[in-house]
Amino acid sequence: MRIRIFDTTLRDGEQTPGISLSPDQKLAIARKLDELGVDAIEAGFPVISEGELRSVKMITKAGLSCDICGLARTNKKDIDAAINAGLDYIHTFIATSDIHLEYKLKMTREQALEKAIEAVEYGKSHGLQVEFSAEDATRTDREFLKKVFAEVAKAGADRIDIPDTVGYSTPEYMAEITKDAIAATKLPVSVHCHNDFGLAVANALSGIRAGAQCAHVTINGIGERAGNASLEEFVMALKCLPYDQKYETGIKSELIYDTSRFVSRIVGIQVQPNKAIVGDNAFGHESGIHTHGVLSNPLTYEPIGPELVGRKRWLQVGKHAGIHGMNAMLGEYGIHPTDLQSKQILDKVKILGDQGKQVTDVELLSIASDILGEKGIKRIVHLTGFSVSTGIGTMPYAFVKLNVDGEDFIGTDYGVGPVDAALNAIQKITGKISEIKIKDYGLASISGGSTALCEVTIRVEDAQGESVSAKSVGEDIVTTSVQAVIDGINRIMLKNMLKEKQLS
Ligand code: MN
Repeated sequence: MRIRIFDTTLRDGEQTPGISLSPDQKLAIARKLDELGVDAIEAGFPVISEGELRSVKMITKAGLSCDICGLARTNKKDIDAAINAGLDYIHTFIATSDIHLEYKLKMTREQALEKAIEAVEYGKSHGLQVEFSAEDATRTDREFLKKVFAEVAKAGADRIDIPDTVGYSTPEYMAEITKDAIAATKLPVSVHCHNDFGLAVANALSGIRAGAQCAHVTINGIGERAGNASLEEFVMALKCLPYDQKYETGIKSELIYDTSRFVSRIVGIQVQPNKAIVGDNAFGHESGIHTHGVLSNPLTYEPIGPELVGRKRWLQVGKHAGIHGMNAMLGEYGIHPTDLQSKQILDKVKILGDQGKQVTDVELLSIASDILGEKGIKRIVHLTGFSVSTGIGTMPYAFVKLNVDGEDFIGTDYGVGPVDAALNAIQKITGKISEIKIKDYGLASISGGSTALCEVTIRVEDAQGESVSAKSVGEDIVTTSVQAVIDGINRIMLKNMLKEKQLS
């Protein structure tokens, strides 16, 4: 069965507290969603501002292959704004639960029903495709909800949407009211689920199982409060879980990870590490039992292959590590210790782990080089001096002193800001030694306030196209950035040196 994916990252997702996107940013996301293969995009809520209207106009004119929809309350002004934005498809809504009617709309059920019918008729009389939502459907009196759906269907609605506006539904109830809506309207039904109890995807899947044909979803599950059903979880669950029926979507799953990162960067919201499918740890393994299993056959501890969503598996050593995982990591660097050496390396790794230290490739290689007797490898590049100056009316300037394999180097440079200046100065030095280039730089704030911790992720690449990533966390943006870059450079130089040693 073909399931329709209606993406509302640009509307409900943008209603995430703290997110506000410019028209150019919205257009960039719309293009990315279209490439991903969504069937429809809810581009925005045209009536709310000039910028929003402009964004939706830009998206409707961009020549995308998916349907473009806009949100409108059940009044002429909102629907006119949608028409003005160039839309031929609207998502119109009015609340139907007694809580919303009494405290928000100050209307009776009958008045709300009348507004719903008028809006659908108005939209249809302007040739629009109309999807109707009964806001807070899951807390609406069940008989009244059926009546509303039946009446708007009679008035000409093309699609019915069931919003679980405050994430209050159970999967069982979602299935029941989905069946109600289909029976009452004979129209294609969508479900719009929120994650207040962590059930958004489960509820959306339950709606589909009960006959809904479409789900409203967002990238990374962003949206009001706890967010919406996440596109990546919903799509991969439909594709991979052992249902008795086959479900298909138009999503190119191998683009999922890239799209997730893209949206995360633009909206400025980090994905939690343990998030399904797109979190950093979703395909990472540390514990010895798991890494051993995955190395023998990935299916032991991975329900799906990471390639399916455009990702790579990673292994990390730590106090849960076992010999197999560790040797596999060392093997990637061309190092093959004897059994005795492996045991000695692992003992040291566990001591560090018990001290609460994270063991990255750099530490692992450094320990390995101690045990294997290759003294002097360790960290090749040391930061021995560093200062930046910045301000208004002056060009940001950095001074960096590095000790590389025993030899001192000094680099100075300007930049658009202090981080740029520092990275330019480092690049001047490393460019001389081994043509290492900084390819990606990402900065995220972990906590709030002016003492917030920041997290810097970088990727460096050498002349052969070999690349490594490094991450550093600290309080000072500039020194944390410099640390991440130095770590990255160390990794790539170690990798290359060890390869050479193995060859010789
Ligand atoms: Mn919503």
